[in-house]
Amino acid sequence: MRRSLVCLALVIILFSVGARGQSTPSAPAPLTVIRVGTLIDGVSEAPRKNQLIFVRGERIEKVTDGSVEIPSGARVIDLSNVTVLPGLIDAHTHIFLWGEDPAKGGYDANILNAGIALRAARATVAARRALEQGFTTIRDVETEGAGYGDIGIKQAIEEGTIPGPRIFGATRAISTTGGYNLEGYAPELEMPKGAQIVDGPVEARKAARQQLEHGADWIKVYMTHRSWVDKQGNLISQPTLTVEELAAIVDEAHGWQKKVACHAYNGIGLQRALDGRCDSIEHGLEITDAQIAQMKRQETWYCPTLSPYYGDWAPADTPGGKRDRARAAVHEISFKKALQAHLKIVYGTDIGGIPWTEPIAQEFKRMVSLGMAPMEAIQSATSRSAEMLDMKGEIGVIAAGAYAEVIAVEGDPLKHIEELEHVRFVMHDGSIFKNEIAK
Ligand SMILES: [Zn+2]
Repeated sequence: MRRSLVCLALVIILFSVGARGQSTPSAPAPLTVIRVGTLIDGVSEAPRKNQLIFVRGERIEKVTDGSVEIPSGARVIDLSNVTVLPGLIDAHTHIFLWGEDPAKGGYDANILNAGIALRAARATVAARRALEQGFTTIRDVETEGAGYGDIGIKQAIEEGTIPGPRIFGATRAISTTGGYNLEGYAPELEMPKGAQIVDGPVEARKAARQQLEHGADWIKVYMTHRSWVDKQGNLISQPTLTVEELAAIVDEAHGWQKKVACHAYNGIGLQRALDGRCDSIEHGLEITDAQIAQMKRQETWYCPTLSPYYGDWAPADTPGGKRDRARAAVHEISFKKALQAHLKIVYGTDIGGIPWTEPIAQEFKRMVSLGMAPMEAIQSATSRSAEMLDMKGEIGVIAAGAYAEVIAVEGDPLKHIEELEHVRFVMHDGSIFKNEIAK
């Protein structure tokens, strides 16, 4: 009874605050018009020349032909000699990883030696770097032992305390006993883990509930962990969760209208990820034809993250070296099959696993070198990722009604995709964050 009175009082207060907000007539936000030489809008198959983007507040009001009159008093940004695109979306990042150098202790040092304040400071820089490079939205797929730090960083960005992209955070991620780092220590020691460990559908569902309660926008699940090459030369990946465990998580997340991203390399774990109805497959190094067909049927998103599998190979004659080469070899085949089958491929780098000092746009050239058309690669990092994030028409596109996420590069990225590694202008939610070229 008392509680319902408190609720009623709260409703009245909220309502009166809202009503007061509405009754104050506020002047329309000032108009900014961007003069565009070449526009790649994130959706259309071909670029358009000489366009105008009208921006009011944080949204795009309209996009018109360059001949339309610009109202007097509007602020004009001249990008008439360059190529303009929507802010990019990286659908697989880790702001709480720092590309840990194995020589300096690698992944384990991050958890064992770096305090949470140090990690948050680094994550703050990572967020800024993403924005500087034109990535105005990221799906950050787990904090690697930093708890709910991604949601904290997201809050700091949203309240304007630090600059950074729009973040879809997955918080802690979920794996099973024997399915995540830290490992390899004396069995007597209870080591901290980089993910939340569950065993059984009840624990799995509870972990999902805990993460969703604390702000997870996505749930990230590790469906495979260790990988190695067997005597026949096949890449083998250790499976983690059972279908029942995963299904409990997916059922819970879907009830909250959230989605589940599954790290899955190949084999049994990848099959369980699909049978458990994961929304997106992360990495998907080796996908069989039957699994491609199942992904097509279930409309599963595919976030291949090619880049991390090309660097830092161990020597060729070591078990690790064989594994590293096998991963890249099968990955290329899977990516080409996915292209041919028109799977829904989204752009993801796994940056953080790769040092944040490297270009986040490096995945574009990997995708294009394996046969993806440059325009499709751009769309994978714009409108297609936006659709996966349930933000279709709001981000990843330059059109009326979308958030004013606008970037520019000097050259033609359709001819030289590497141009996207040199973003020279960034507007985020209608505010200019970086400007090295506009007059
Ligand atoms: Zn990752």
